[in-house]
Amino acid sequence: MAGLSRRTFLSMAGAAAAFGAGASRSASGHAGQASGPPAILGGTPVRTAPFPTWPVSDTLEEQALAGVLRSGRWNRSSRTDAFEREYAALTGAAHCLATANGTSALLTALAVLDVGPGDEVIVPPYTFVATINAVLQRLALPVFIDSDIDTFQVDARRIEAAITPMTKLIIPVHLGGSAADLDTILPLARSRGIPVLEDACQAHLGEWRGRKVGSLGLAGAFSFQASKNLNSGEGGALITSDTKLAEAAYAFHNNSTPRGGGGFAYRGPGLNLRITEFQAAVLSSQLTRLAAQAARREENGAYLTRQLVGIDGIAPAKMYAGCTRNAYHLYMFRYDATTFGGLPREGFLRALRAEGIPASGGYTPLNKAASVAGTLASKAYARIYSSDTLAALADRNLCPANDRLCREAVWLAQTMLLGSRADMDDVAAAVRRIQAGGAAIARTLSS
Ligand SMILES: *Cc1c(COP(=O)(O)O)cnc(C)c1O
Repeated sequence: MAGLSRRTFLSMAGAAAAFGAGASRSASGHAGQASGPPAILGGTPVRTAPFPTWPVSDTLEEQALAGVLRSGRWNRSSRTDAFEREYAALTGAAHCLATANGTSALLTALAVLDVGPGDEVIVPPYTFVATINAVLQRLALPVFIDSDIDTFQVDARRIEAAITPMTKLIIPVHLGGSAADLDTILPLARSRGIPVLEDACQAHLGEWRGRKVGSLGLAGAFSFQASKNLNSGEGGALITSDTKLAEAAYAFHNNSTPRGGGGFAYRGPGLNLRITEFQAAVLSSQLTRLAAQAARREENGAYLTRQLVGIDGIAPAKMYAGCTRNAYHLYMFRYDATTFGGLPREGFLRALRAEGIPASGGYTPLNKAASVAGTLASKAYARIYSSDTLAALADRNLCPANDRLCREAVWLAQTMLLGSRADMDDVAAAVRRIQAGGAAIARTLSS
């Protein structure tokens, strides 16, 4: 974009008039307006009040944990069984297996689907590294599909061209709590006979056309790690309506020992990826809060989008039409520095934090991560795959749209969406104020 838009110019003129006057702040800690110099240049921050803290707990969790402690049964037992029934019912899946963490849920699924050496697994480059680590742990090849920068999700239109006879599995990630384009992915996978494992680790209660994400593919993985919308410090779950898969998953995560099976009669491969009763007790307690928290996040997320879409150069992540419910693990938007006086994203993030709005730049491209490259260059991979195959993979795995997304992304944490409407107004006010002062901030930061 050449020069300043009329809106930017007008807001700069307004800001100039107010420069030096400082912003008035109400007793609630909200400035409630965008005028005044940016805090990073010495102005009064838009807000000083903290956003809601996380996790949320009270005597419900305390009593549940004390109950486990006193019971003397600390490893998986009736409380885990109860949580699994609750979570299966909540998602509409026939079965739920609670696991030590989300990575374990993914690894269990890949193991029972027999993903292994020589297989290709279709993954997005814009996800938490665990999605890829599970594939690498199985010594399979991650085939990265470029991102749809409008939605931050995998660009599902590109999947078909990436399928080969080696393609063993497709892992769409419902990134940030919004949904990947399942209308494109599920029919394609079905027509090619390739199973779909949904990585729903960020999408508790998210929905696609009225059905809970994680329940639409062959299986779905969830995380209950501390940052996630349902939290037991660490924890995870695999859901599926395939009874055979559920039984195999149980045996795998239980060191090759099937449900109800004792006597050291091992069946198939295995690891110990079990959850504890402590985690299950916390999860059942936290579940009583999940629906209300999800409703609050959804309302605030939608409201914040209405405030931000009018700001030139801010592009909130769009949702596909089929995403009937966004779980909002993250509030994500793209930032265009040209409409902010050339202020680079890192400077924008610093300026936001100075206004009292914590924000981050999100993921780096996983297709270029040193950990992934190192594994693909490892002894194990060299023994399985030819150098031609690995060299060709590097070319197939280029994701230029995702590189751009990683440069332009801005994230707000889900906990911020648990606040009030006034909190969301503060976010928009801070962005407007930084836009008005963008060129001045850019000059100051680069000098
Ligand atoms: C958190 C997360 C995981 C891994 O879950 P852990 O519980 O941390 O092992 C996997 N995939 C995605 C997309 C995640 O956000």
